[in-house]
Amino acid sequence: MLESLRTIVQEVNAAKDFAEVLKLIVHLVKQVTKTGTCSVYLYSPEDDSYVLMATDGLNPDSVGNVRISSEEGLVGLVASRAEPINLEVADAHPKFAYFPETGEQSFRSFLGAPIIHQRKVLGVLVVQEQEQRRFDESEESFLVTVSAQLAGVIAHADATGELDRLINPREDARERIYPGVASAPGVAIGTVVVIAPSADLNVVPLRHIKDIEAELCQFRQAMEQTKRDIHALDESMVGKLSDEERALFDVYVRMLDDHALGGEVTSLIKEGLCAQSAWSQVVLRHIRMFKSMKDAYLRERATDVEDLGRRVLAYLQQSETKRTTYPDNMVMVGEELSAASFADVPLEKVAAIVSVKGSRNSHMAILGRAIGIPTVMGVVDLPWGSLEGEEVIVDGHNGQMVVSPSDEVRETYVQQIYEEKLLAADLEKLTDEPCVTADGHKLGLWVNTGLRLDALLSLDRGAEGVGLYRTEIPFLLLDRFPSEEEQRKSYREQLEMFAPRIVTMRTLDIGGDKDLPYFPIEEENPFLGWRGIRICLDHPEIFLVQLRAMMRASEGLNNLSILLPMISNLAELESALELIYQVYDELTEEEGYQIEMPNVGAMIEVPAAVYQIREIARRVDFLSVGTNDLTQYLLAVDRNNSRVASLYHTCHPSVLRALWSIVEGAKGENTPVSVCGEMAGDPVGAVLLMALGFRVLSMSATSLLKVKAILRQVSLTEAEELLEEVMEMPDAQSVLKHMEDALKKPEVAGLFRRAKIH
Ligand code: PEP
Ligand code: MG
Repeated sequence: MLESLRTIVQEVNAAKDFAEVLKLIVHLVKQVTKTGTCSVYLYSPEDDSYVLMATDGLNPDSVGNVRISSEEGLVGLVASRAEPINLEVADAHPKFAYFPETGEQSFRSFLGAPIIHQRKVLGVLVVQEQEQRRFDESEESFLVTVSAQLAGVIAHADATGELDRLINPREDARERIYPGVASAPGVAIGTVVVIAPSADLNVVPLRHIKDIEAELCQFRQAMEQTKRDIHALDESMVGKLSDEERALFDVYVRMLDDHALGGEVTSLIKEGLCAQSAWSQVVLRHIRMFKSMKDAYLRERATDVEDLGRRVLAYLQQSETKRTTYPDNMVMVGEELSAASFADVPLEKVAAIVSVKGSRNSHMAILGRAIGIPTVMGVVDLPWGSLEGEEVIVDGHNGQMVVSPSDEVRETYVQQIYEEKLLAADLEKLTDEPCVTADGHKLGLWVNTGLRLDALLSLDRGAEGVGLYRTEIPFLLLDRFPSEEEQRKSYREQLEMFAPRIVTMRTLDIGGDKDLPYFPIEEENPFLGWRGIRICLDHPEIFLVQLRAMMRASEGLNNLSILLPMISNLAELESALELIYQVYDELTEEEGYQIEMPNVGAMIEVPAAVYQIREIARRVDFLSVGTNDLTQYLLAVDRNNSRVASLYHTCHPSVLRALWSIVEGAKGENTPVSVCGEMAGDPVGAVLLMALGFRVLSMSATSLLKVKAILRQVSLTEAEELLEEVMEMPDAQSVLKHMEDALKKPEVAGLFRRAKIH
């Protein structure tokens, strides 16, 4: 059975589309279980029914036409019970229903397994037998295993809209919402421009053309150029390879012929597909086919086809005239956008950024936040290659992209964009106003920086200091570790920009999802692995250089504070402090620098640190709470995984209680404590943090004026009363709702109004 499963998985991987997957599954399962028929029914929410979508054994004309209500028949029973049903005499069962279109009256025995993904029944996989037969346990578990595998494929097809198109074919495009990770706030409506890296067969966007002759001519030229290359390669190998080995080059050239790959591509171009799309589609299909072959030698040939594929694609891309016109309000979309993607596009036209891979801490997200462009990363199900030219909505607050929006949804967002513009203009008036609550309590609003650009923006918005300078960001943008002098210069620039205000520089916090290209860390579980202070302590040569650069940069300014990330035990803290003192002594006593000892603080972002808060607080000058990591570790929810994003919430009562313990512990040791996680930049979060007792909040520059506006409208007493109420609540949703309802004064409601479209 395991071998059969492997074959099924291989063939499914090689299938060209979702419809073919379903056909293959029913065919293979029927073969393996040696039954008369195998069918897949998929759930259609539109009419709450299960639609026969593929069958091997029933009347093929009934595919797409048999709709069984969820209350009806044995299929309905499997779905409603969410468990397999195995019946030797199916037609005697009270739930047996007869569907004449399928011709199934001739089947006696029935085995059905539900197809379930994330608690939702997506369909039912059924085998039926004409003769009376008892399906045995191994057959039952085989069907359950295939269903579980199929569930992932169906869920993906559901997310990309393919499922809906198959079940309910219609002319007009249907609204689709693709969730991702909210990475830079704001909303934009714009036209998709797909940015694809070159010579990568897997990332060629689907483009249609009108001038078929020109495209065919380009394709023929690329084929000729590639053939010439192969002949030249063949010549150069005379004497180095045997004649048999060189025969492979002949095979290559023949593959390009019109009756092989070349012919297939030509037909697709004639149907209106551009040469690059047609070529990549055909080549990828052949690669999948070779990879799924049983014979090891033939499987290996997949690599040859891939190599050939890349060669031709490179020529096609060379001949492509470089794009020079871009739509206004363009939405940059790509599989893995990087900072380099900005190189070819006019920045002033970019309205939003959407990437299939990557997280909140990828370069693109950092740049998006710094420049103020709504950004959504990690949109894993996005069919990005086929979106060129489409009008879409990017919602950087909720982390989602809407394709083919309904008029109603579009209108909601148009309204939000309008309100955000008005709000931004209004908020500017607060730049020079102090952050004082309605009952006269002062709060410090600091900023988080990392790039020169966000530092400049922060100064414009009246930041009172830097609560978190993420030093890893300049490291991320280089191709090697920066030298001590390079670091000193960039730290000096930050310190000078803000002097005499404090700049809190966090020591290198790499690992987790922040990988340096020149220091790759391959781990099964990077967020629980070699990260932050752990790396620095294991590599004192990197850590000491950074500390030296920071302290030397502060000479004469003395506005530096040093912050240590990811502290999870006292030994780490003490070792780091020792190295800091060592650097200070070397610089001042041996090298003659005139530097004041900077304040040193610890980040509280690991639950272990919350339980040892007093011991940590006693050893440092200040504490800074990283709510981003603290939330992910407390709730065991990956902060960058869009599939569990609905479970990640800084308003979760457990997070609030942890924050309360931190404030109490810090007070007990008289150690100042601030917050530098995203919660501080969220208007509702900021009110809660103030009520919990935090008096300094550090956030991205783009949030600063919004937070100031809300804190100036709310009194501390009112916030404390609200906190008391929400601390008793059962979950984050109730907390958030209670807070938003309570803060619904017209002056402040706009600050946290977000489009809610589903
Ligand atoms: C945090 O974890 O809250 C934090 C501020 O650090 P980072 O987001 O850089 O991990
Ligand atoms: Mg952190």
